[in-house]
Amino acid sequence: TGNPQSAVVIGLGRFGLSMATELEASGVEVLGIDCNPEVVQRASALIRHVVRADATDKEALAQLAVDEYACGVVTIGGDLAASILSASALLTLHCPQVWAKASSAEQGEILNQMGITRVFYPESEMGLRAAHQVAQSFEDYIDLGHGFALVITSLG
Ligand code: ATP
Repeated sequence: TGNPQSAVVIGLGRFGLSMATELEASGVEVLGIDCNPEVVQRASALIRHVVRADATDKEALAQLAVDEYACGVVTIGGDLAASILSASALLTLHCPQVWAKASSAEQGEILNQMGITRVFYPESEMGLRAAHQVAQSFEDYIDLGHGFALVITSLG
């Protein structure tokens, strides 16, 4: 599918902001969206395009032309309804690829049922990764989703 040249990142908490800044540093055009004005203000020092909007508001997302971005990532964790409604709005507006972060297995299950391209579980994925490093079973272990993992190990 090639590298996405543009992405909408919904929610600019720790995960979303870190993702948005890294995407922009990688040359991807990023639009960051958050409903909290203080979060928006802090994020605008780090990424070029940030707007304050409620991502559960389909009209607002349509006006921001989210369908023109190669992918949309929903990084809202705690608020289950907001996470699902934002992901659903991106799907309805035909955002070509929709990715999402889940804070619980149940949230992840719902997002998967909706047909989200890839659901991220930051805490449990990082927990697995850290366990393999601590146990020194592998030098690194990165969960790729869909039952795959990238394992870095030395031969011999
Ligand atoms: P993290 O672990 O990444 O810091 P979190 O899992 O604690 O995040 P939340 O704090 O629930 O997740 O959400 C992350 C961001 O999403 C917050 O900055 C919050 O303001 C924003 N957010 C929540 N609901 C909406 C919404 N409806 N529209 C836009 N942004 C939202």
